Amino acid sequence: MSVFHSHFLLPFAEPDRYQGFARRMRTIRRFERQTAAAQRQEQEKRLHTLLQHAYDTVPFYRERFDDAGFHPSQARLDRPLPIPVLTRDDLREPDAKLLSTAFSVNDLRRAGSSGTTSTPIQFYRDLEGMRDKSALQWTLNRWSGYRPGDSVLMLWGAHRDMAIDPPWKWRLYDETLMRRIPAPSGMITDEILERFRERYEAKRPKVLYAYSTVLAAFASYLRKHGMRHRPEGLIATAEVMNDQNRALIEAVFGIPVTMHYGSREVGMIAAECSAHDRLHFHPWSSLVEFDPIGDTPDGPAYRLLVTDLLNFGQPLIRYDTGDCVTLPETSCECGRSFPAAQKILGRVCEGILLPGGGIIPGITLGTQMAQMGHTFRAIARVQFVQKSLGHIHLRYALQQEDASKSHELTSICKAIDALMNDPVRWTLEQVPEIPRERSGKIRLCVSEVDASEAASFAASLLAK
Ligand SMILES: [Zn+2]
Repeated sequence: MSVFHSHFLLPFAEPDRYQGFARRMRTIRRFERQTAAAQRQEQEKRLHTLLQHAYDTVPFYRERFDDAGFHPSQARLDRPLPIPVLTRDDLREPDAKLLSTAFSVNDLRRAGSSGTTSTPIQFYRDLEGMRDKSALQWTLNRWSGYRPGDSVLMLWGAHRDMAIDPPWKWRLYDETLMRRIPAPSGMITDEILERFRERYEAKRPKVLYAYSTVLAAFASYLRKHGMRHRPEGLIATAEVMNDQNRALIEAVFGIPVTMHYGSREVGMIAAECSAHDRLHFHPWSSLVEFDPIGDTPDGPAYRLLVTDLLNFGQPLIRYDTGDCVTLPETSCECGRSFPAAQKILGRVCEGILLPGGGIIPGITLGTQMAQMGHTFRAIARVQFVQKSLGHIHLRYALQQEDASKSHELTSICKAIDALMNDPVRWTLEQVPEIPRERSGKIRLCVSEVDASEAASFAASLLAK
């Protein structure tokens, strides 16, 4: 790592995020060098500190812990915390209930808002936590050889993260000194991809950092139109990566892609190591729980719950990320004992619910569609909207009008019917383009199934 960047430039230019950066990086490295047992001991100690702080200073948690008859000192790493899961709806409570009274509003920073399908929510972080999170993010970046000061081209799908017209001083700092080149875009078209390509060839970045689907689209574009420069690192994030896209990206760039996992609420918390086989959740920054939700074609799936150990301003305890994951059965060759997920299957709600209680995750559908899509001449993209347990509405966009259209649509419906075991009712709708969400993500699957409908259906099956 460049001493200039870690000791001077970052702390000076962005004190809110980087004050004490070098010291924090050393702290994390010291944590990583400990034995697994010592790491767990330290994690449990930090968990107790957070829970006690939440109990003492956050009215919401005091009430919650008291209702559950739970005291922070009873928390153990080897069993679920005996308090309810924190949901996105809980975050819509008036701020004051969830913020710690130990901080004045001036000590907190709004960490942005999130809300792709419903009312946006807002959440806050204390400054120390933000700085710790920056150090953690760079720790994860380092696993794939990306260090502060390395040139990086960032391909995003969202406008929101980037100032539309950043002031020249920021551009000088960001692009010249930090060597970060943002390339935001809402809709990914050939015109946009050509602009990415021009920037990529002109700047010759060491690292490409991108949304999974944007990186896949870019790789596919480069394969068609050619490329001269090769990066040393590829980091993909924010969206689920299916096997086809991964193979495509790695074939085009000739190096492995590294997945990172995070969310707006908790920041970046997991990354693949050099084995590229699973995501390791860094125990210095969070405690994860895997809550079983049922079987999928990829094996048993778990809902990912996160307790953020780095946010004392607005503690997030047992926060339901909305994502589901599968777990590895073996230990990783890198030797890290950190908790790991084999695959991120995506949003729990981004799957098709089965009448029998299981779910077909979005990633399974994505893999299926990618396999079939190779031969398609008419259909370019699809989106499944599950209207009820027995009704799927298929939205599709065309690459061109072609006689094979109806045949392709039929084969899509048949493939899903086969996964569902039972045929469902299909309705079809042609759209000019499948829109990206406000977050910049494209959702393959949207569930409009009422949770109570699913529950009563399951109950009726049990009653038989
Ligand atoms: Zn590993």
